[in-house]
Amino acid sequence: MGYTMNAKGPVLVVGAGPAGLSAALALAGAGLPVRVVDHAPAPGGAVHRQPLPGTRATGTREHKRAFSALMAKVRAADIDICCATGFAGLDHSGAALLTGMRAGMVRPRGLILATGARELVQPRPGWTLPGVQTAGAVQTRLKTLGTAPEGRIMLGGNGPLLLAVGAELCALGNPPVAIILAGRPFGAAGLRLPLAYQVEAARHMARLLAARVPIVTGAHVLAISQDAGKLLATVQTRRGSRDIVADLVGLHDGIRPNATGFSANVPIPVEQAGDCHVALGARAALADGRRAGLALAARLGGRGHGALPHCAVLAHERAAQARLAKIFAPVDGPKLADLPPDTILCRCEGRTVADLRNLGPDCTARQLRLTGRFAMGACQGRFCGDWVAQLAGHADLGQPRLPLRPVAIADLLTLEPDTPDGETR
Ligand SMILES: Cc1cc2nc3c(=O)[nH]c(=O)nc-3n(C[C@H](O)[C@H](O)[C@H](O)COP(=O)(O)OP(=O)(O)OC[C@H]3O[C@@H](n4cnc5c(N)ncnc54)[C@H](O)[C@@H]3O)c2cc1C
Repeated sequence: MGYTMNAKGPVLVVGAGPAGLSAALALAGAGLPVRVVDHAPAPGGAVHRQPLPGTRATGTREHKRAFSALMAKVRAADIDICCATGFAGLDHSGAALLTGMRAGMVRPRGLILATGARELVQPRPGWTLPGVQTAGAVQTRLKTLGTAPEGRIMLGGNGPLLLAVGAELCALGNPPVAIILAGRPFGAAGLRLPLAYQVEAARHMARLLAARVPIVTGAHVLAISQDAGKLLATVQTRRGSRDIVADLVGLHDGIRPNATGFSANVPIPVEQAGDCHVALGARAALADGRRAGLALAARLGGRGHGALPHCAVLAHERAAQARLAKIFAPVDGPKLADLPPDTILCRCEGRTVADLRNLGPDCTARQLRLTGRFAMGACQGRFCGDWVAQLAGHADLGQPRLPLRPVAIADLLTLEPDTPDGETR
């Protein structure tokens, strides 16, 4: 099949969220050696993000129970989990570059990408100001530190994550001053969601209502500005526009699979699992991880593999997420093409709408990157790539490049000359 013949190292699973751990269990069950890496300090992924040592754990009892059960299986299978270790990409020869705690070069016999979802934040004037974060970043803080940020917090954009983060802020004693949603999700259609979704939504809404959090639907966060040390979010509602004062703004406009920068053209078998494959949430991630693990085991000739089981969970979650997307469908709002020229598109290199327009109408994806410097910064386009491509009329910004993430010089210094069956370093 053209795969690297000297790749003898354990299968590399990137991501220790539900999908990666579930894939690792399936691979280990098929008798294949597995190593899981995750750049987070502990396994768990977005849904089971662990508190830092000495801080209070947040999250529901069901989540904690589900994660403990998963980790018990992982420990019983003696799977090697390397945390604080990032995956920076796979080169043409099949060598994978790892950074951080277990930095080095490895030659896995196969690869599972279970890197989860990335958060979409639509560019708007002021979205890169200090004090403006993604709602996911606010949630990461809540989960890892067990405390809410101080001051007035406004959440805006669209999607159920905003309600979840708002409810978590209430539970930690600092309810948001407002939640702005571009959709109008509070209709009867919610009753057609699966019961588990309704229960979760009811729990969040009970907290938000008890704390009297204003939730404005069919509204848009147009711009954010700074005034005397505070943030002013200009919000367009049905009744006109108004400013909301806050010390911190959490933005979120949905989630997308996080496989940005990964090339399909690699010399070892690869499967994508969980939200990085198709963003369907935690229940689907577990099922899809198992599917991907079994599929890779079959390609590598693992023990006891056969036909892949039909996965009812995936079909069920796909239908539920499609319904959820309809429920949150945004009400007409500002168009990307109408952004003011000085709006920053690429926050890594400070490139603006005007910089993009100055490149001219027939700019190729390569020119956008090399001349325009779009998608060339530390995030490699995870934040700006979708929007720049959309504004420039391209499907994407072209060929991904190695490394997927910045690599510390200290990590490069740990690399030793490659060995044919090189496991590590
Ligand atoms: C910001 C955000 C918040 C969310 N919060 C919730 C929530 O509260 N509740 C809920 O039910 N669902 C939440 N979700 C949805 C969540 O993604 C899924 O439900 C579930 O966690 C998906 O599992 P997964 O294993 O596919 O991905 P994840 O759980 O996201 O796990 C992916 C893992 O890959 C790691 N990773 C990524 N890239 C690399 C790399 N290059 N090198 C090494 N490691 C890497 C990440 O650190 C992460 O631990 C959230 C999603 C996002 C984007």
